[in-house]
Amino acid sequence: MISKVKNAMSTLVGGMIPHGHHHPSGTGQNSGSSEGLPPRFPYGRPDFLDLTPELLQYSTEHASRPVLMLRRDSRLPWRTGYAEVINAGKSMLNEDQASCEKLFVKKPSGKHRSSPLQEDTGDATGIPLHFWGVYDGHAGSGAAIAASKLLHRLIRDRLGEVAHLLENPASPPPICLAKNGSPYQATESKKGAAAAAAAAAQQQGEGAAAEEPDAISDPSIRYHMEKVVSMESLVMGVLENAFRQMDELIEKEKASYTISGGCCALAAVQMLGKLYVANAGDSRAIIIRNDEVIPMSNEFTPESERQRLQYLGFLRPELLGNEFTHMEFPRRIQHSELGKKMLFRDHTMTGWAYRTIVEDDLKFPLIYGEGKKARVMATIGVTRGLGDHDLKVYNSNIHIKPFLSCCPEVKVYDLSENKHGPDDVLVMGTDGLWDVTTDQEVADAVSTFLSGCDPSDPMRYTLAAQDLLMRSRGVLKERGWRLPSDRLGSGDDITVFVIPLAGHEGES
Ligand code: MG
Repeated sequence: MISKVKNAMSTLVGGMIPHGHHHPSGTGQNSGSSEGLPPRFPYGRPDFLDLTPELLQYSTEHASRPVLMLRRDSRLPWRTGYAEVINAGKSMLNEDQASCEKLFVKKPSGKHRSSPLQEDTGDATGIPLHFWGVYDGHAGSGAAIAASKLLHRLIRDRLGEVAHLLENPASPPPICLAKNGSPYQATESKKGAAAAAAAAAQQQGEGAAAEEPDAISDPSIRYHMEKVVSMESLVMGVLENAFRQMDELIEKEKASYTISGGCCALAAVQMLGKLYVANAGDSRAIIIRNDEVIPMSNEFTPESERQRLQYLGFLRPELLGNEFTHMEFPRRIQHSELGKKMLFRDHTMTGWAYRTIVEDDLKFPLIYGEGKKARVMATIGVTRGLGDHDLKVYNSNIHIKPFLSCCPEVKVYDLSENKHGPDDVLVMGTDGLWDVTTDQEVADAVSTFLSGCDPSDPMRYTLAAQDLLMRSRGVLKERGWRLPSDRLGSGDDITVFVIPLAGHEGES
């Protein structure tokens, strides 16, 4: 044990991120071409924990799995509660990461335009935004750390580009913007004039469209019926694009740095009275309101995304490298079963049907296994996330990436439309929490805990997070980590935010 910690510490002190030996596949991965490059960010725990080197070392002890939480004298924005614990030994370091930030969305202003991705300067002007992110890394902690440092800045910068539209929620955002970002209207602002304008423009030919030289000009789309786009969907679009840009950034920076592995990303943004939750992976967010559970995310796994993955394999069979079949069968097929009939399903099906087995069906299934053991191409157990650009099927040149998508699903909750008590919360956690504790168990535990806790205690949400974490980790017994029910506790890294929906209302 001691040598293990020493080993971990020499890695920490050296600032190097070890390459993961514990991919969720169990089959390992090709390490790519980043050997010898410095890490993009050194390993650490979230800055807000403010760990001393001794505590950082202590946090890596798999034998005792200490629960890390906020210090009594430190506060997170929005009275957020937080707790985390390392895994039971599946990887040397904690591959989960988290971030919690208060940011300000500013319009980019000419030459004073702030450089993208810069740290917040503390200048409290602009639209306030609260951000929470949990990242569950695999095959190393590099991608999770990079995302925990940068994703919220990307989101802030993208929001800045539409800030002038968001500040005016009474009118829907214009569909077209001039190059300088100001609203652009094809002809007249009145909607009723669009048809007349279309006819006039057609008569005069395309030249008439060049009313404003700066405009994005595509005459073919200009005069058709316009869709009404909500402000809400503008923020959703920002989140979706920021995830993709984060993924591209990791790929780009891998030319100069080591950014190991990949990560699931779950991000929540509170802004202008709404809560947006974007999820790419198998972490989960739920709202607990009046002891009732409101799911705020869906998990993306080989099972939940089977049809999307199979369809991609069907459309682009070359991605399967002649090794895999996009068809799913209830079990592997023996060569002797050629010509027999076997149950199957493809990308068009939810149910099962019989088909006659042909040679191609003998290939390994694109999706194989059940539940937490289900894998894409026998390699990875999640289907959305950031990073993993080097991830290949073991001993092959088949890339996982096109099957692994960085696109999040975004859900919106209207904070201003609902009244919230001090015990109504958003819980965000990595799969280490949810693997062993159901939504209802989490809701019951949080509600019971908070109702017995002084509403003015600034630590109440952190203590609730700690309570959740202990329930999922369990205690170390002779036969491993056990829950009170004697079921096996979670051996994974566990990260939990408990965020009061009433937010800063009670903030001192
Ligand atoms: Mg996990």
